[in-house]
Amino acid sequence: MTSSYDSNNIFARILRGELPAHTVYEDADTFAFLDIMPRGDGHCLVIPRKPARNILDADPDSLAAVLRTVQKLSRAVMEAFAAPGVTVQQFNEPAGGQVVFHLHFHVIPRFEGVTLRPPGTMEKPEILAANAQKIRAALVG
Ligand code: 5GP
Repeated sequence: MTSSYDSNNIFARILRGELPAHTVYEDADTFAFLDIMPRGDGHCLVIPRKPARNILDADPDSLAAVLRTVQKLSRAVMEAFAAPGVTVQQFNEPAGGQVVFHLHFHVIPRFEGVTLRPPGTMEKPEILAANAQKIRAALVG
């Protein structure tokens, strides 16, 4: 059985504008921003605006909207970083590796022979700002 949604989770607070984020894309149903501890340059997170703890309780229409944005961002990060590949990850419940309990998909540009960086290392704000700008430029280009 899954637990309930906590409206004070970090991503809910980012959505409400209570905490800052390096935004790369937003629309009526979804919001995308850079992971503050990226596993690779350009590591994005895509979330629904509608509250959902994870994939288990998400409204299917909201999930579909998130996946549309995941596809858009996958193409954009590959272009922005001239990456030949992209990894999409999504974790559910603590046993599934989930740490923040608002549904999110990771979108990470990938390069041959380059492994993901270990989790938990904070990136410099100026690097996040520059990477977000690259992705926004790829989205409009
Ligand atoms: P997961 O729940 O999928 O295991 O991972 C949560 C992700 O959120 C991690 O990759 C972590 O680096 C990221 N994260 C945690 N706190 C923040 C935050 O305050 N801002 C941003 N942008 N990302 C965060």
